[in-house]
Amino acid sequence: MSSFPSPFAAPEPLSGLDPSDYVAGFSQPEASGGVPQSDDPRVTALFRRKQTFANKRFRAAKASRNDLRAFVSDVRNQGVGVAGAGVMGVSIAAAFLNARVPVLARDPAKAACDSARSRVTRELLELRWYSGEALENAEEEETLVVDRVAEFFRVTQDLEALAAKPVVIESATEKPKLKAKFYHQLEDAATTSILLLTNTSSLTIAELSEALPRDEEDKHTSVSRFAGFHFFNPVTRRRPVEIAVGAQTSPETIARAVSLGREINKLPMVVGDSPGFLVNRLLQAFLNEALAELDEGVPAERVEALSRRFGMKVPPLRVIDEIGVDVAMLSGKSFYKAFPERTHVSTILPGLLRAERYGRKTRHGFYRYESRSGWQDDATFDADRETLRRLADPTIGSIVENVDPRLHTDEALGLRSALVILFEAARLVEEGVVGSLRDVDAGLVLALGAPRDRGGICYWALSFGLDILLEAAKEFEPLGARFKAPELLVKLSEELCGRRR
Ligand code: NAD
Repeated sequence: MSSFPSPFAAPEPLSGLDPSDYVAGFSQPEASGGVPQSDDPRVTALFRRKQTFANKRFRAAKASRNDLRAFVSDVRNQGVGVAGAGVMGVSIAAAFLNARVPVLARDPAKAACDSARSRVTRELLELRWYSGEALENAEEEETLVVDRVAEFFRVTQDLEALAAKPVVIESATEKPKLKAKFYHQLEDAATTSILLLTNTSSLTIAELSEALPRDEEDKHTSVSRFAGFHFFNPVTRRRPVEIAVGAQTSPETIARAVSLGREINKLPMVVGDSPGFLVNRLLQAFLNEALAELDEGVPAERVEALSRRFGMKVPPLRVIDEIGVDVAMLSGKSFYKAFPERTHVSTILPGLLRAERYGRKTRHGFYRYESRSGWQDDATFDADRETLRRLADPTIGSIVENVDPRLHTDEALGLRSALVILFEAARLVEEGVVGSLRDVDAGLVLALGAPRDRGGICYWALSFGLDILLEAAKEFEPLGARFKAPELLVKLSEELCGRRR
């Protein structure tokens, strides 16, 4: 290709399929239909479904409506336990409190416990303002939230109190050994059976299950009662929650996790087990590409500006600051372990950590922030080329030199981000983590806030021309295995081109 096509224009709508409507929901296995009538083979391709292990398991759930009602009522009476009162633990607590479900948050760190109440209150107040629910009288509004928190929210360092809850949502630091140790301690402290759900963003249910007792051992935290329950930051503003199904997760556990999600007005997405499940696999591809570009010498302002031009409301380096540079680094390590050939090891993230620039939580990362609480428009960019060069730590990550300048034009950089997400999307369907390209798109738009008017990456790609994209991807292959087109897309492109001829 002499020059790359521009990816920045909005897609031409596919016949009979408005991009915004298309991503409004996620196919739940108990629901059927939802496939639009269209003669356009691209529409059929987006909705083509593969039976996944997770969906088969969910379908097999025998829990009757009465059982589920009793479970939910028990949860409402006794409340849920949240292990970890960090960024996410507090945000998860806010989502339950917003639905009037009592929460007991447990964290061994005194500082986290001491600040949890004020953080949860702030998040609930922000939610009210955000959703336009705020009363005209701000004082009355504040009283309402403060009273709700006083009535329904408890914080403790005590493990026994947590272990008495029917449901424990583990949202502790993203370190496999730390989580495993916590599961052992929870089992030892438990006196009743627990539905144990993890909010991990990059570890697999298979790996974490190794720390849990087998069913035959007849313990309280048995492996069949364990699943992923993955929320998105900020929890109160993102509707989806991924229910990740491990090989040993029982159908009843999935059914319970789904009802729990619905009870707090979330959109449960039942997905298969994989590092990052559905949504964080896509997020990781997006962030990884931005970090690779920085190490190739592309200025951070350009990375951010081009992402915005592609329609992303929050560009990648801002996302890293919001989730926390430390958390992004830990997730990056898990992805590197799982997919070394597709993961770039950044020189910048360790440098930021060393400089104590953890992102929003320390009010300084790639940007400076006025406030420690999340997702406000108070960021000032602070990562010019000289700053990043000074921070970079090439003893940990790798600088990428001598990249062909053609791969650094605006069009090429825009295409690179789009392609890595698209290819990860296709791999997720190939691996059976989700059943269709359309479900990937729904996850991307609903959970990650990708532009709705583009219908998600797969919709955009089929409208843009899969054959053109695959042709462009060949030029990027020298940059790494992440640009090798998955079979599913190669075959789909041949199928669609064959029909066009
Ligand atoms: P964080 O560092 O803000 O908080 C982690 C908390 O866990 C700390 O307060 C720590 O004291 C506590 N902790 C450590 N050991 C514990 C134990 N044994 N029991 C209870 N608490 C313990 O991290 P975070 O961003 O809140 O991440 C927590 C989990 O949520 C991780 O698994 C992460 O991958 C996941 N997650 C994070 C995001 C995000 O945007 N930050 C999004 C989705 C999921």
